[in-house]
This record gives sequence, C-alpha cells and structure tokens, in this order.
Amino acid sequence: MLPDTVCRTVHQYTSELVSDEDMAKLQEIARDYSQVKNHVYVRFGGVGGLSKIYPGYTVQNEMIESGLREQMGMPSVYFYLAIFDALGEIRSQWTRTKAAVLKRTGENDSLTEEEKHYLRYLLKVNNAFDAVLNHRKVSLRPDLQKQYEKLAGCIDVKKANNYLRRQVRRIHVKPHTDGGGGFSLAERAYRYGNHGIYITVKEKRKRIFLPLTDSNQYTRQIYLKLYPEKRSVEIKVPVDVKVRTHKDYTKRVGMAAGMYTMFSTDEGHVYGEKLGEYQTELAGWVRSQAMKHGADHEEAGRKKYTDKKRRKTQQLHNYINMELNRLLRTERPEVIYIPKLPRPQKHGGDKAINNSVNMWQRGYIRRRLEQKCREQSVRIVEVFGKGISRECSWCGAYGYKKEGIFRCTSCGCQMQEKWNTARNAKKRGEEADLVLAPEQCLTGEGIL
Ligand SMILES: [Zn+2]
Repeated sequence: MLPDTVCRTVHQYTSELVSDEDMAKLQEIARDYSQVKNHVYVRFGGVGGLSKIYPGYTVQNEMIESGLREQMGMPSVYFYLAIFDALGEIRSQWTRTKAAVLKRTGENDSLTEEEKHYLRYLLKVNNAFDAVLNHRKVSLRPDLQKQYEKLAGCIDVKKANNYLRRQVRRIHVKPHTDGGGGFSLAERAYRYGNHGIYITVKEKRKRIFLPLTDSNQYTRQIYLKLYPEKRSVEIKVPVDVKVRTHKDYTKRVGMAAGMYTMFSTDEGHVYGEKLGEYQTELAGWVRSQAMKHGADHEEAGRKKYTDKKRRKTQQLHNYINMELNRLLRTERPEVIYIPKLPRPQKHGGDKAINNSVNMWQRGYIRRRLEQKCREQSVRIVEVFGKGISRECSWCGAYGYKKEGIFRCTSCGCQMQEKWNTARNAKKRGEEADLVLAPEQCLTGEGIL
C-alpha cells in the first residue's frame, strides 16, 4: 500500500543580504509565532486539553477570546497558523505518549491479559482515554460503550485506570518551543514577484521584499527559516511528488557507503566515485578562505564568500543527485540493503576531510537517497552494521582491511573493502527478510 504522492521539500534562498531592519521585523514575527505556540502548549498540551484538541475548534475559539492576538498586535494570518501548528505538535506528542504507554503495558508482567486488553482499548479510543485521565465517567457511542463495559467487567478498573494515569504522568510532556528561528506562512501571508517574495509583517499594508536566487513560485504553506548572523533567509516549500512504480525494478541490491566513493554495490558497481575529490576540494577551499579572510568582516567580502560557498555546495549536491539518479536507473532495485550508519569517527581516515567533518555530506546523501527511493517506490532496508566490513562475504570468517582492500586469511579472497561490505549487506538483508517471513504466514499472505 504505497501512497500516490510523497512530500519533497524545495529550498529557496535570498540572493542579497537582508537589511538589519527587515531581519528584525522577521525575527519579531518568529518570536511572536513561538510565543503563541507556547501559549497553546501550556493551555492545551496536557491531560486537561485532551477533549479540546480534536478537531480543535475549541482551542481556536478560546485562543481568539484570550485577546492574545490584539495584545501582541499580530497579523491574524500568523496567529491562526501558529495555533494550527501547535495543535499538530500536541497531537503528535500524544501519539508518542500513547505508543510509549502501549509498549510498557505490553512488557509489564504484573498486568493480566484482560487488563492489557482493557488498557489497549483506552489507548485506542480517545474519548475513553480522555475520560479516564480526567477522572470522568466513560461515556461513548452505544456500540463502543458496550465494548468498553465488556472489557471493564472482568478486571479491577480502578487499578488499571491508576496504572494508565501513572504512566501518562511519567511519560507525557507538554511540547515547548524555544523558537524564534523561523515561522510558517499561509498563502495569504506572502506573494511572489519581481524575482523575490513579499512577506506580510506587523505594520498594516506593508510588506518586506526578499530577492531570491530563483524565480520559482509556489502556492502553499511555506516555512521561513531565519539566519540573522548570515543575514539570509531560507524558504522551505513542501511539494507533492507523484510516486512512480517500476515493474522492471526487481533487483535486490546490497550497498555500502563510503567517504571517497559514495556507494558500492554487491556486484561491484560504484556510484559517486568523485565524491571524495569534490569534498576534499571544497574543504580545502573553505580552509584557505578562512585563513585569507579570517579577520574580514567587511560586508562585500563576506557576501562574496557566502555566495561562492553556496555555489560550490550546490555543485557538490548536483553531483550527488546525478549519481543517485544514475544508481537507481542502472541498478533497478526493488529493495536496497544498506548497513546502519556508524557514528562519525573522530580519528583515522583522511585529514583533509576529517578536519571539517561537516563537509562530509553523509546526512545529505542519506536524505536524498531516501527521498528518491520513496519517489520511485524502492524499499530501503537497514541491516545490522556491526562487524559488517570485517566479515568475509565468501566464507564468513573475519579478515582484515588495508588501504581499501579486504583480505580474508581463511579462504584467501581479496577484494575492494566496500564491495565486500555491500555483499555482506545483501546477505544480512536477505537473511533478515527470511526471518520476517513466518510473520506473513499469520496474516495468510505467506508462501509457507
Ligand atoms: Zn573468506
């Protein structure tokens, strides 16, 4: 059951430095925005707010009546969006809390099966959950009420209810935002034009103009992220992309990621071979610039540097995306097995890259791979990564690695280290898939 569309985030950037005055105005909105959110969190984020957050009109009405908006002089377009935003966060916080309680309930040996049934029911039916937590009598739709009473009939309700309240007290926290870093804008709060964007601010009938590096225009809710120290603004636009499915994508591909070569596959194919070169070059450039302009606080110089760095990063990203596209097109995978990533290492490896670990675009590559796979309906499976590069993919014995080559002392095989790892990834992935198979049996869809 794949969704028809997936969300992709498009980024836009300001093409000129934002004036202090404009930045201050934007920061003011961001501050107000998070203040409203925190207000909603405090008032409705706890147990007492449960009955009001679905569908949320009550929250909106109470917030309007509070007079907060007038007090802050906030444009209503931001005020409503902040409430909406906060409501969404409160709901997901409850989802997380319920999932955690559910897990604890399942693991608790001192609860009987009947008590567990009862508790699961409370966690599933929001009105019952709300009533129990707020010490009210549970009263539901007739059919649900009947189910509830049947479950409650065979247990110590008081004990189970206390258990639920205790767990929620322990686990649930009201959300909070330190915010101020940005805010969302509904379509009514902005307008594209003149190679930039006009943003509604507090002053009536005034808009701030931000010139952008591209002239794309969107008509949906966007997010503005502020970088006051860099005097720039980033716009994040979520766009829906249609999911494509490929009948001819049938291969199971094991992959290993690297610092120099982006990905190697179990068949020994490589993608993003120039990644290391690009990154070393970029890291070197950043370092040389830092030395040259260490004390350069002059505006023109800084802007030039920021622009050039962005262009260079963009070039690197273009290369990464191009190679990821080539990978999917060439390999035609149905599923990709990939080791869970280890934490970045502090020692070892190439100094030119490690000196600026953040230059290694690992996170970016991973996000792009995941996004592209979602868009093409390719499954990614993370396999257990421990010892995966030291194990011989032919005989299973431990070998050793040197200068990118893996050598097995047991069977004598020698191969590219990443190739060996990718082969192991495929092996581990397929084994894990086999372990999962019996579960499919239970649903009657298995082959066994
Ligand atoms: Zn071997």
